[in-house]
Amino acid sequence: MLIQDYNLLARILAEFLKQCAHYKNMDSKFAFQRNQNYVEFKRAQYMLYDVKYLLTCKPESWPDGLPENFLNGFAVLLDLLSCMQGMDSVTRQVGQHIEYEPEWETAFNLHIKISMFLPLLLEWCATNKQVLVQAYRNALQMLWSIQGRFQVVTRDVDEWAATCINYDPATLPVSIHLPVSRIVAGLHLLLGRFGLTYDSPEFTMEEKPAPRELMEYPLRCQVMVAQSHAGMWRRNGYSLLHQIYLYHSVRCRGEMLDKDIVMLQVSASLLPPNNFLVTLLDRFHLLYWIRDAYDTRQLSSQEETLRQTVALVEEFLRLLIIVLSERFVPGIGKVTAADCLMREIIHQLCIGPMAHSELTKALPENQNRETGLELVVAQVADFKKPRETVRGTYELKPDCYKHYNPFFYHYTRSDLSKSEETQRKRPKASPSEEGCPPPALVSFTEEFSHLAELLDCEVMLRVMRVVLERTGLTHSRSYSEPQLQMVLHLIGIALHEEARQVEELRGGSLHFVLRATDVGIFARLEVLVANDHAKAHKDLLTWVLKLYKKVKKLKSHAVPELIVTEPSAESVARESERERVDQQRRSDLATARRNRILTQMSQMQKTFISENRQLFDETHTELTPCPSQADIRSDHSMEEEENPVALGAARTAADDNDVGQEMCILCQETTEIRLDGPAMVLAAFVQRSTVMSKSRQKLPEDVEDTDVLFVSSDLFSGTHTATCGHIMHADCWQKFFESVLAKERRRPIRLRHHLSFDIDKNEFLCPLCENLSNTVLPLLPSLPSLAASRSQQVELPLADWLDGLEKTVTSSKSVRQNAETAACTSEEELTLLVPESLVAICRLLKENVAANFQQLFNYVCDISSTPSGELCESVVDMIYTFSQSAYTIGLDALPHRENPRMPVMTWNSCAFTIHAIEWYLRDEGKPLFGTFSSRNLDCLNALVRSAAVVSYVCSVEVLKSHCVHLLSSLIGGEHSDEAPCILSTDLFSYLVSAVFLLPALYAENGKQMSIKLVPSGGENERNLLQLIYIAHVVQILLTAETNDEEEMEVEEVISKEDREEGKSLAQLLSFMYKCAGLERDVKITPPRLLQMVRSATLPFLRCAAIFFHFVTNVPAPHDLCLEFPNSEGESICTYLALPSSFTQLVEEPLVNRLVSRWCDHPTARDMMSHRSRRLLDYPLEINQLVHLPSDYSELINQASLFTCPNSDGDDSRAPTMCLVCGTMLCSQSYCCQTELDGVPVGACTAHAACCGAGVGLFLRVRECQVLLLSGRTKGSFFPPPYLDDYGETDQGLRRGNPLHLNPERYRRLQTIWLVHSVPQEIAHALESNSSLLSIDWQHL
Ligand SMILES: [Zn+2]
Ligand SMILES: [Zn+2]
Ligand SMILES: [Zn+2]
Ligand SMILES: [Zn+2]
Repeated sequence: MLIQDYNLLARILAEFLKQCAHYKNMDSKFAFQRNQNYVEFKRAQYMLYDVKYLLTCKPESWPDGLPENFLNGFAVLLDLLSCMQGMDSVTRQVGQHIEYEPEWETAFNLHIKISMFLPLLLEWCATNKQVLVQAYRNALQMLWSIQGRFQVVTRDVDEWAATCINYDPATLPVSIHLPVSRIVAGLHLLLGRFGLTYDSPEFTMEEKPAPRELMEYPLRCQVMVAQSHAGMWRRNGYSLLHQIYLYHSVRCRGEMLDKDIVMLQVSASLLPPNNFLVTLLDRFHLLYWIRDAYDTRQLSSQEETLRQTVALVEEFLRLLIIVLSERFVPGIGKVTAADCLMREIIHQLCIGPMAHSELTKALPENQNRETGLELVVAQVADFKKPRETVRGTYELKPDCYKHYNPFFYHYTRSDLSKSEETQRKRPKASPSEEGCPPPALVSFTEEFSHLAELLDCEVMLRVMRVVLERTGLTHSRSYSEPQLQMVLHLIGIALHEEARQVEELRGGSLHFVLRATDVGIFARLEVLVANDHAKAHKDLLTWVLKLYKKVKKLKSHAVPELIVTEPSAESVARESERERVDQQRRSDLATARRNRILTQMSQMQKTFISENRQLFDETHTELTPCPSQADIRSDHSMEEEENPVALGAARTAADDNDVGQEMCILCQETTEIRLDGPAMVLAAFVQRSTVMSKSRQKLPEDVEDTDVLFVSSDLFSGTHTATCGHIMHADCWQKFFESVLAKERRRPIRLRHHLSFDIDKNEFLCPLCENLSNTVLPLLPSLPSLAASRSQQVELPLADWLDGLEKTVTSSKSVRQNAETAACTSEEELTLLVPESLVAICRLLKENVAANFQQLFNYVCDISSTPSGELCESVVDMIYTFSQSAYTIGLDALPHRENPRMPVMTWNSCAFTIHAIEWYLRDEGKPLFGTFSSRNLDCLNALVRSAAVVSYVCSVEVLKSHCVHLLSSLIGGEHSDEAPCILSTDLFSYLVSAVFLLPALYAENGKQMSIKLVPSGGENERNLLQLIYIAHVVQILLTAETNDEEEMEVEEVISKEDREEGKSLAQLLSFMYKCAGLERDVKITPPRLLQMVRSATLPFLRCAAIFFHFVTNVPAPHDLCLEFPNSEGESICTYLALPSSFTQLVEEPLVNRLVSRWCDHPTARDMMSHRSRRLLDYPLEINQLVHLPSDYSELINQASLFTCPNSDGDDSRAPTMCLVCGTMLCSQSYCCQTELDGVPVGACTAHAACCGAGVGLFLRVRECQVLLLSGRTKGSFFPPPYLDDYGETDQGLRRGNPLHLNPERYRRLQTIWLVHSVPQEIAHALESNSSLLSIDWQHL
């Protein structure tokens, strides 16, 4: 034993005391200053952990030497505590507010450290009578030596006089730190175990505080808290409020509030009851109030003083209730520690159902940081299991509500009102529970039984009478509802106590009923039933009177009879009436809230309009008024058309009631969407994305060299566009955006980063929904309505169409143009491919083909010769705005108005966004059509239309060159080898660009493109799609794993057609191997090949169907709106006018010619022959976040094995896992900081830049916290997908319950990532929690 052999307890404490010596002031109290450096002191405090360790094991026996050395240590402890008694004392400020907030935290930190082991110390004392006696004597002596004798005065209430200590806490210093008084209280509670009392001969000492002196300091503290609640300490600032808060808080109250109440109870049990009450009244300054004269005197006393007195009376009554009814402390009441804990739990759950963590946090912890909750909770509460994403909660068992005490001393004021609210709403088992009456009481222990005498002493009866009398008066200066409630509560306690004594003791010393009747208390209660002032507590009043009659009867007959009342019909009726009223009130509240929001909105509009008055005066005349805004999108009239066809000469008519009017969210005006303006826009967000990447870690090439016309088939980087769907006038938006900019520019630079959006990146929040946005998408009329003027009935088979294009591509010339003529601002020359004119090409074609071919493209010449200028300037501006955003963000390039790649980036973003939506629908198992969210619908409509008209703002020469370059990759010509091979091209993106570029092929040079040249779904589009579809099938076949010899399941019956189709594909495949120069056999069976190709082509077909649906506005086939379409591929082929069987598709004679060319491409041959498995598997599987283990401890183990890659095998402090690729990083540490564009960034930010194009999802393993990052400087935390058995997360791993993966939660995170919402999540989190803004996310 370290204490016994080495006197270690005393030694450590003495050493600690020595370390603290220089913090003492002249009175030998600790005095901590602000701005002082406490590093050493903090270090010294670690010694106190050693003390705790020394005391961890209670001794079984006390061998020689141990008691002495333990008491040695105890004596040193008392010295230490004496330096703390009275530290940081405060004096009430009057007149002036305190100048600076005094230091208070250091003292509280010391208190918390010491209170870690105080309970252990008391447990030691409780095991040995001799030790306890000596310890109590020492403590009393120490208290005496600190306090000395007090100056006393005599105070009286009527004939009841008492000697009181003369001290006024309202003018003299008071301290919240009273550890010596409190250790005396703690020891006093143990006396009963050995039959000792305060007056036992063992404690006969000269210098021993008298009972009223024992409670002096705690009482001052209580009065100070009460005065503060009454508003008398307002000028003492926040430091006092913080201290009072901590005094009551679950961390500190065990060795503060609780012990002070014990001390009051000790004194109350030792003092004559009247004496005790007079002392309290004196301290609360209420001796004046209790006189009858108080209410009748015509004093012109100030309102403020009156109000304070009322508040102090309430505080005084509350303290009385606490002293009398807080018996759940072993030593005071006949209770066990488990009873006490259950009572705490009951009262917490009376506030409302609570999650496990909330409940744990509200309960005090023992020295091992345990609450003991699990051991007892099942007796008082039911656990409602977590459901999916709803966490589990504890709910109080209904029969436990009877223990509810609204004046429970650990309740804060808000706990009190919340718990009362909960009680009122709760369906009651019996009307006796109405009005929250005091619960039945447990018995006091022998030593504290005198406390009950307080209840029927003269001063108490006088207090009750005074309050009841003044309640009855119409013009009382002192009446308040809480006073009445508390006095009724006190009377209830008295009646309970008397009934208990009668039952338990068959008599007892309490004669409350008798004495209270004598002073007329019950007569007054009867009168009050009809009084308006008592209305609020009528239920409680009725209950008290009922109980009074019972106890009176009990007393007279001494017949034990339980107080049971049946719910009467009347009370049931009253209950349902109350429910009805409640419901009414709730719905009224909802209406009021709605109205308030509406008023707010209209107010905002008014301000906006008045600020932009001029603008409105200008534009008003142009606005076309619209009576109502109907939702035109909702009715898809598809019952007329069974199998609509979107492409080709025989296509179905477009669903064209789309010419709509939209309302601006900023000015509330409705405007028709027209090309001649005024322009309307959608708030939109464009971001670079690697979500669909099949080659993670692949970095984007140098911006200047990227040929953006061909999107890589692994989709490693794309440009995603999204919108919240909120519409504004372009003018309104620009005004709004400028005002945001102006506001931010006025802010000091150092605060600029502290925003949820980054104005340097043109970010703003949607003015309606606060969605993060960084550009706008223009709203345009539907494409068929733009192309309406042209008639197109020509049919042209693929072979003929291709012939014309082949000739065009092969005959194109490459011409170097310098900057001026190419309309390119850069100095360098630009190489353009110039195709032959349509007339020249037609001369090269066969006569019958030429006619049709010319007719097909004639519209281009017709229209492009008409004068341009159909679009108003603001619409053109908005088209520019969006395409510039797609260009600058997608390529991370500087804005460049005439860069030739600008339109291509818009098309690529259109294709990428459709890809992403297709993935999302596939991932969710949703049908292709019919379930678009309105955001996706708005986005696709606007995006496809913007992509179609972006040509309008580009140079025709550049477009023609792009077109030739693009086509050459599939069609051939001398430049075809410069284009990437089909294996490395994403053919859906190719399709989108080709559809938008083709109309420019024969446009007239030197002119602007016409807006009417938009694609409309004719033969051009049909043939393009078919060509690209063939290429896709070839792409799939080339990359397919064909060594698979597994037989198909036998039960599947293979139709003749399927067999044929499979065979055609197999033939094509072996032909392809030959072309690619591969010595390889097709080992796969034809039916299996067919099945494989069918499923592999589906994503492409789905994307194409979405795309052409929005291009042509042809209603989607009914089949594709079903969750499980019969044959999705077939339906799409019909819709897109593609041959439905592969036999038809690949047996065209031209296919072999195309295939041999494609397979002969040098890159393709190279990729095929090395078989380096860099080939993709079609269909591209939907990317998922990394697989996480079900048991969280596995992750912890994994992280503990991870060492920092930059510091020689050291552990990483914050191991963090990328949820996208699984890489483990050393986050938030200098060792792994790198630079990104010259700015130092942490490992996570650096990793997010390459892995997620700036967007990152990480799991901080030690904290069990999901970290979201975006835009380099912004981030937020997200609840982790790991839950404990109570359905709760444990961020920070503070509670340490076993955690398991919750798949639903992880899936939610996966969806957020998949739909590109991470930046939105972060922006919303930053908006709602400004403290997140101060975190330096880029250093994580
Ligand atoms: Zn507007
Ligand atoms: Zn919005
Ligand atoms: Zn990663
Ligand atoms: Zn590191």
